[in-house]
Amino acid sequence: MALRFYNTLTQRLEEFRPLDGETVRMYTCGPTVYHYVHIGNFRTFSFQDVLRRVLRMRGWKLSHVMNITDVDDKIIRNAVAEGKSLKEYTERFTQAFLEDAAKLRLERPEKLVFATEHIPDMVEAIQRLAQRRHTYESEGSTYFRIASFPEYGKLSHTNFSGNVAGARVDVDEYEKADARDFVLWKARKPGEPYWDTPLGAGRPGWHIECSVMAMKYLGETIDIHTGGVDLVFPHHENEIAQSECMTGKPFARFWLHAEHLMVEGQKMSKSLGNFFTLRDLLGQGYAPEAIRYLLVSAPYRKQLNFTFDGLKAAAAAIERLRNFQTRLKTERFGEGMDQEQEERAARALRGYHEGLDDDLNTADALGAVFEFVRETNIAMDQGRFSQGNAAGAQRVLDDFDSVFDVLRPAAAEGSLSDEEVEALVRERTEAKKARDFARADRIRAELLEKGVVVEDTRDGVRWKRK
Ligand code: AMP
Ligand code: ZN
Repeated sequence: MALRFYNTLTQRLEEFRPLDGETVRMYTCGPTVYHYVHIGNFRTFSFQDVLRRVLRMRGWKLSHVMNITDVDDKIIRNAVAEGKSLKEYTERFTQAFLEDAAKLRLERPEKLVFATEHIPDMVEAIQRLAQRRHTYESEGSTYFRIASFPEYGKLSHTNFSGNVAGARVDVDEYEKADARDFVLWKARKPGEPYWDTPLGAGRPGWHIECSVMAMKYLGETIDIHTGGVDLVFPHHENEIAQSECMTGKPFARFWLHAEHLMVEGQKMSKSLGNFFTLRDLLGQGYAPEAIRYLLVSAPYRKQLNFTFDGLKAAAAAIERLRNFQTRLKTERFGEGMDQEQEERAARALRGYHEGLDDDLNTADALGAVFEFVRETNIAMDQGRFSQGNAAGAQRVLDDFDSVFDVLRPAAAEGSLSDEEVEALVRERTEAKKARDFARADRIRAELLEKGVVVEDTRDGVRWKRK
């Protein structure tokens, strides 16, 4: 069966293939780096990771761009309050975001782009919109006139006619009831960072950033645009208006939106204060794989309620799969091949892939894998599993893990085996003998970073784990 996605634009499940039949051109609204990203944000980014992996598994190449929003209202408010430059303020959170994403095993998009590095492109885009009469100026700011784009509202499926007469909005985020002419370029305000440009001194609005960066790297019509549901309006609606008014072409063919991670019936969000960062949870001893599993195990278009019980259940599910893999690799089974078991594996693979093809229904995909594990464990207990069935069973686990990526324990990552430590300690001793002290120090620092302390004693070199 073909890969199908629910397209917010058409409100239908549609078969997906990239326009050029080869490479999926995809854009993701990345984080606004004014704080540590919370695991609600990471639900959306984890969905995008599953999407990437499934697209590749189906044979497509990827050209995926994600932006980092490093200038917006909230960033400016916080940076100004701390007396820092934008760059100083955002760099730390950008770095933290990338580190957290790596811990959650989120693949890096092919291209990561920063809004502040594209100001001239944005100015040019706004000038293009001005030439086509989609903008007007007021008090040094430039606005997009939504009445100039009759299709405005087509993504959020709202009829705004009669509601669009001239009122303006300067802030980046607002409610649907407030469909207004939105700001493309904001006039400089005292004490705020700004750029001197042909549009005047000021800074870009949030919405123009994404339109410009998406089209610059991916072309005028992209295959997939993703984000969380809260971005449908106004952000994505505005992206469509800007892009399509610039080019006269459809901006994105597929719009995929992840539902929210909830806490006791409310969206996990910074403003409500009901959020956990990845760092909070790792600090409490939860494994990053368990958090990843929790975030991706529910289908992305269903709200997911965050609970610690859920997190524990995720860890237990991973344990079950790892135990099964260990059993598969270490137990000796009878010679030959059991036909029924082969069919079981084929059925599981089919169910797994059909689940993913059905708009990334990870719950159905997991259901097929767990049923397989349960039945196969029984078959093993009853001697109905032969050595010849091992490859088929491993294939199920491999396909599972190429998307879910939780079987490898994080604890082993970055830590060194005793043999590796011994080898590095020997290398350091050699370096010292050769009077290459810089190198010896580097090795010692590397060991320390990986939790191994080296001591030079009268009896020679000793090492221990911290
Ligand atoms: P932001 O940094 O606020 O621009 O958000 C980054 C991404 O996280 C966006 O795609 C949001 O839609 C998404 N997001 C924000 N809160 C949640 C949540 N509670 N659950 C899932 N996604 C979220
Ligand atoms: Zn965006």
